[in-house]
Amino acid sequence: MSAQQHGFKAEVQQLLDLMIHAVYSNRDVFLRELVSNAADALDKVRFLGLTHDDLVPAGHDPAGIRLEIDAEARTLVVEDDGVGMTLDEAVENLGTIAHSGTKAFLARAKEGGGDLPKLIGQFGVGFYACFMVAEQVVVESRSASGGPGVRWSSKGDGTYEVEEADKEHRGTRITLTLREDAAEYAEEATLRRIVREHSAYLAWPILLGDATINTARAIWALQPSEVTDEEANAFYRMQTFDFEDPLLRVHFHVDTPLQYSVLLFVPRARPFDLYHPDAAKGPRLYARRVLIEEHASSLLPDWLRFVRGVVDSEDIPLNVSREMVQKTPIVRSIRDALVKRLLKELGRLADQDAPEEGEHPYTTFWKAFGALLKEGYFHERTSLGDRLLPLLRFGTVQQGDALVSLDAYRKAMPLGQDTIWYLTAPSREAALASPHLEAFRKKGWDVLVLTDPVDEWFVQALTEVDDVPVKAISRGELELDEDEADEAAPKADLSELAPWLQELYGGAVHAVRPSSRLTDSPAVLVDAEDGVSAHMERILRQANQEVPAAKRSLELNVKHPLIVDLATLHARGAGAEAETIARLILDEAKLLDGSHEDPTGVGRRLQDLLQRAARQWAETPPPA
Ligand code: ADP
Ligand code: MG
Repeated sequence: MSAQQHGFKAEVQQLLDLMIHAVYSNRDVFLRELVSNAADALDKVRFLGLTHDDLVPAGHDPAGIRLEIDAEARTLVVEDDGVGMTLDEAVENLGTIAHSGTKAFLARAKEGGGDLPKLIGQFGVGFYACFMVAEQVVVESRSASGGPGVRWSSKGDGTYEVEEADKEHRGTRITLTLREDAAEYAEEATLRRIVREHSAYLAWPILLGDATINTARAIWALQPSEVTDEEANAFYRMQTFDFEDPLLRVHFHVDTPLQYSVLLFVPRARPFDLYHPDAAKGPRLYARRVLIEEHASSLLPDWLRFVRGVVDSEDIPLNVSREMVQKTPIVRSIRDALVKRLLKELGRLADQDAPEEGEHPYTTFWKAFGALLKEGYFHERTSLGDRLLPLLRFGTVQQGDALVSLDAYRKAMPLGQDTIWYLTAPSREAALASPHLEAFRKKGWDVLVLTDPVDEWFVQALTEVDDVPVKAISRGELELDEDEADEAAPKADLSELAPWLQELYGGAVHAVRPSSRLTDSPAVLVDAEDGVSAHMERILRQANQEVPAAKRSLELNVKHPLIVDLATLHARGAGAEAETIARLILDEAKLLDGSHEDPTGVGRRLQDLLQRAARQWAETPPPA
């Protein structure tokens, strides 16, 4: 068979153009990508070997990843004895981009700004990274399952060639002809340095000449005391392609009744795809050092999907399919243990003394992943509520930027406060502007400020904490004692006004009633005790879901001069003036809680009011 020429898929070519033409500060990562592909291929063939005894033999012993350099010819070879590829697989894997992350990568790369090598790692566009340093790439490969070999080559300029080619052993040999400005990658010292930085803790040996230049140990199988922070962090960075060290490491072995080793990490920052439905999640699952699953999502609940690392079991049978692995009681039992251990370690992190400078690590954790613990509480409050509650943190009205636990909030409750109060809002700013807070401010009662989208669901699960009820300040009728000093102030009589307003507003409000919530504002909208809140309504609307409009009541501040005057106007029979003002009062209340469905109508009514006021003032000149 002679060589065939193929064009790259448009996306791949865009990617290649980025690799070839831009100048990047850190091109070293291409080697990490090739080495990790080789390790994947080795993991796969080891797994395959469990059920197939007729594999094409490996070319070397021990199996591993070999680097060869020729400084004069400016070439670098990365070779492995892994599963290899057939011709069709080479076309499929190296000519198209099957990964969902790649489109997102391209978009981000074009926006500019981002550090490209970092993005490459995060988005897994690995193989093509070699075009950052190579003017020509030749891939020779043979699949472990037999058949002829393949030779794939490209200059990254829009096309690649493939043909059948002889290859005695299984595995893949990738030869890079380096660009002139990348000659350093054919030097031993450079390769040693890069491997030390990026791939030191790979469990497969990386050989350069006769020397193994990485540790090639499964560090999760070592005793935790044998592993330094440095080693563990390097292992984490290699495995996750994260450029930062992890925030938390959880390393332990269990011996009875099951036997397994665990090395898990909590990253410092949210991965870009945390809320992406097809994002890969779950730690790597090994069975006696054999990689069974790259992302074992059944090992952790969805709300712990940010946790990375390795679980290596001695009990999982090796020759079962991955679908079956998910269902074994072994996995279920490991999962329960992992969750409990992780929550315990997070508790320890939370209890750590504050650092001399900088943010408390638990605050860092909470900002990145707190919303997921609330998701966890929503789903598992019956089984894990007691463990999760102490881990929750909240912003409050009085605490500024600080985060408080429910325990701290309760300890700070003044005498007379018997409820944990909260307010949900789209942002802290919106929350602080809410008239609902007025009476609470005056009483000195702090209020939890909840601004995560998940909070509307979370509060449905959190109805009380040790018999102390948890309530929204914007819901239901509220009985707050009145200040004695205020009793003398003039009050509007609502007996006539309220029914009239109710009729005027029609279906827009459920009831009109006096309020004990307000000190400064004339009126506020209050959610019904049950039913959808204004904030929830907004979230559902944004998600394009049909929502019945929330049933809300308008509460009036009977001591507010505007309401007092409105009652007087109404009693005097000044219908038109009273109506303009009444409508604007409802407008203002809706604008404040972000639920106004017709802001242009507000403009019209405001203009009407301004005209009346201007006329009035024009006709009654001020006293000289
Ligand atoms: P990823 O590793 O995230 O799948 P890459 O771009 O690094 O993406 O690699 C693309 C695909 O090419 C791999 O998924 C694999 O199927 C194939 N591949 C790359 N390198 C090798 C190799 N050394 N041996 C076998 N297959 C490989
Ligand atoms: Mg890869």
